[in-house]
Amino acid sequence: MDYIADRTRCVDASGIRRIWQMAETMTDPVNFSIGAPDFPAPEPLKKAAVEAVSQDYNGYTLTAGIPELRAALAEQINQEYNWNNPSILVSGGLSGALLLGLMATVNPGDEVLIPDPYFVSYRHLVNMLNGKCVYLDTYPDFQLSAEKIAEKITPKTKLLLLNSPANPSGTVYSAQQLKAVAEIAQKHDILVFSDEIYRDFSYDQSAPSIAQFYDNTIVMRAFSKAYGVPGWRIGYIAVPEKHTDLFNQMATVQQYTFVCAPHPFQRAILANLDLDISQHINAYREKRDMIYDGLKEDFGLVKPGGAFYAFVPAPGGSATEFVTQAIQNNVLVIPGEVFSQKDTHFRISYATSNENILKGIERLCNLAKKFQ
Ligand code: PLP
Repeated sequence: MDYIADRTRCVDASGIRRIWQMAETMTDPVNFSIGAPDFPAPEPLKKAAVEAVSQDYNGYTLTAGIPELRAALAEQINQEYNWNNPSILVSGGLSGALLLGLMATVNPGDEVLIPDPYFVSYRHLVNMLNGKCVYLDTYPDFQLSAEKIAEKITPKTKLLLLNSPANPSGTVYSAQQLKAVAEIAQKHDILVFSDEIYRDFSYDQSAPSIAQFYDNTIVMRAFSKAYGVPGWRIGYIAVPEKHTDLFNQMATVQQYTFVCAPHPFQRAILANLDLDISQHINAYREKRDMIYDGLKEDFGLVKPGGAFYAFVPAPGGSATEFVTQAIQNNVLVIPGEVFSQKDTHFRISYATSNENILKGIERLCNLAKKFQ
């Protein structure tokens, strides 16, 4: 008897697994592979979590989260996007939000538009639900155009997954671009998921959201990156009033899967919604500049506007080949094939110390020169 369900067979983790295996052989590595901030959670947040646990906030919450937190987040969304009465569901991080959103919308065969390169889970979640990933090639500048989207729309297109600032490219879409995308989505009645997990990490302008222009958008956010708490598993989904039915379906899925987001951490976030993280953002802007300035000559990369990644063309053209050599030179980066249908670029996460960044730049540039 084969006990494994077909839906999991279509998930291939071999690319990244191979990299981790190679990484085990590294000595004195510069690790540019981590998709999480390198700063600790702020003290008041930690204190609030400890207090919540000792004050016995350890039971279930309502499925959609504690009402005070939902109300505060709804108010924030209302102010930012001018959405009247949005519904908020507090989720298990952004991954939880994605799973609930996709479970509630994707039928087998439904087409989901995904700008390529993409956050790796999008592809696997859609595949597991028997949806069809339709990739929008955004190379070489990783910008999105309404024309590219229009070319890929069919009667089966249901959803567009947007992520800005983006993983792995660091791209921040402009308001103008998002307006054009909103128009085409409107014309074809396409629902948009806006993954805003890196919204605070935007270095040259505040990151616009398509939600400002298009109310057929489901906004997904999380505290994982901005508050340095990826292990807390707290995120949220904001749903416009006209999609209350959809919100209810997502809540039903949560009821029978995650049940609720972790209660003490919901309390801690509620007590700290206005944390000032500008110090960290300024430090990350500096890291972005160091990476861009350090690599632009040898690699000719696009300047990332946000998140904490750069997506860099691989000298020689094969990312897997370049990454293998980078690992032999004690720099851990991830080949583009993990995030893309192509394997021409590699991802750097610069969420590490400035000292490591300088060391990594030197090693990568020395290696690039061998390809010239
Ligand atoms: N979306 C994007 C674009 C991400 O980069 C990540 C994490 O790296 C997630 C979602 C998942 O975030 P979480 O840890 O909150 O589930």
